[in-house]
Amino acid sequence: MTQLLRVDAVDFSHICVGGQWRPGAGGTRPSIDPTDGSHVADYGIAGIEDVEQAVAMGRAAVADPAWRDLRPHERARILYRIGEAIEAHVDAIAALQTRDTGKTLGETRALALSAAGTFRYVAATLETLDEELTAPRGPWVTMSVHEPIGVVAAITPWNSPIASDAQKVAPALAAGNAVILKPAEWTPLVSLFFARLAYGAGLPEGLLSVLPGPGSIVGDALVRHPGVGKVAFTGGTVTGRRIAAIAGEKLMPVSLELGGKSPTIVLPDADLDEAVAGVLYGVFSSTGQSCIAGSRLFVHESVRDSFVARLVERARALRLGRGDAPGTQMAPMVAHAHRDKVAAMVEGAVAAGAQVLCGGHAPEGEAFADGAWFLPTILTGVANTDPICREEIFGPVLVVLPWRDEEDLVAQANDSEYGLACGIWTRDYKAAWRIARRIEAGTVWINTYKQFSSSTPFGGVKASGMGREKGRRWVQSYMNQKAIYWGMSPEPIGWG
Ligand code: NAD
Repeated sequence: MTQLLRVDAVDFSHICVGGQWRPGAGGTRPSIDPTDGSHVADYGIAGIEDVEQAVAMGRAAVADPAWRDLRPHERARILYRIGEAIEAHVDAIAALQTRDTGKTLGETRALALSAAGTFRYVAATLETLDEELTAPRGPWVTMSVHEPIGVVAAITPWNSPIASDAQKVAPALAAGNAVILKPAEWTPLVSLFFARLAYGAGLPEGLLSVLPGPGSIVGDALVRHPGVGKVAFTGGTVTGRRIAAIAGEKLMPVSLELGGKSPTIVLPDADLDEAVAGVLYGVFSSTGQSCIAGSRLFVHESVRDSFVARLVERARALRLGRGDAPGTQMAPMVAHAHRDKVAAMVEGAVAAGAQVLCGGHAPEGEAFADGAWFLPTILTGVANTDPICREEIFGPVLVVLPWRDEEDLVAQANDSEYGLACGIWTRDYKAAWRIARRIEAGTVWINTYKQFSSSTPFGGVKASGMGREKGRRWVQSYMNQKAIYWGMSPEPIGWG
């Protein structure tokens, strides 16, 4: 039975350096609840000396026979226990994350359960990973084996904290590495809580550090550090490019899960009830703060008017409320500054000629006065080349673009810097297949949207990133592959 850790017993001003809890060299910062601007906790900020120590402790832990020589099934057991500890704390994690991010409790519970599932899935794949004996083409036994990389930096964004943390920490530890997690500035609390659970579940000292702090200081120091052998990053494309450039100089592997501007396509024969529900969920759940948000709606012109009318009616009826209130569908955005950025993008589109079919501003009323709220917003009268259709908004904003001809549809859907996801709504299975194969995206959902499975690799193409998370090769993506040739010839090499 896991000993339950209480959130109110945790001092968030202490950061985690290899399992040692202490004030960060960068002081503290307040974490703010975007529901009403209230103060949640002061959290510790790491400094460069903390980065140095975390890397040194990580390197020592990876080299320690206690971890290095642990058999995969024994490592898997620790990971499994971490997953169980997360699940045992699901209510505490959800409540903490709802305060830190504003998200609904339903969503933060799902994120915590997803993190627990990630640890269990990774533990199971680790137990069943095999190395390869390759066909010999000479007098040798030849094999391909995998070794840990060493110290991995995991840099995560604010929109799904514990789930994206787990998606990096679990496979990196499974591979025998140490991990330094750098959570986003707006949402570090749950990562600090998670590290306590991991050590409580038996993770040996040194293998996990959690270093909150500014990306430009702590994140940058981690990426540049010669002792860091891989960076696993989820975040914006601008930051991703910066990290990739440094990784290029270092010749260091990097995985990048970046932004999106995903098309959702409605064919005229779609089940329109399903499509309306799917489009709404795809763009407005998580208050639009999702990399895979289906933010460009391509609806066939023959059903456009009726479809959009139903969509607008349903969007207006979405329940805005506090994340901890029962029945809330749309909670506040993560921070006031982010809400203001989204509002400015919508204002810019309207000034350029877009028509607002619903939303377009913050909701009115006392309940919303102090929070970072924004109404579900649907815009029309835009062209796919307009900034509002090209830039990632990361908020509850949908643009409607009509289409008539499939060739033109595919060209427009692909005419984007991004290539993360796509949704297709149709009863025509041949059309679904044709379009799905031609869309430039890492994931295509047909008659569903925003669904995930640990066993199905996820990632982007083009400016949406490179590398894949999830799936059976997940653990190996945190390892170096090594060839071993074992000479079996009774004769010396015939040279010289
Ligand atoms: P961001 O790029 O601003 O920050 C992400 C992380 O990088 C944060 O921890 C930040 O502190 C750190 N960082 C910032 N500058 C850095 C630097 N110079 N060096 C190292 N680290 C640095 O992104 P965000 O605003 O936190 O998150 C939103 C973005 O994340 C959106 O673009 C969204 O699409 C993307 N995202 C992608 C996925 C995916 O799986 N593809 C999932 C979630 C979010």
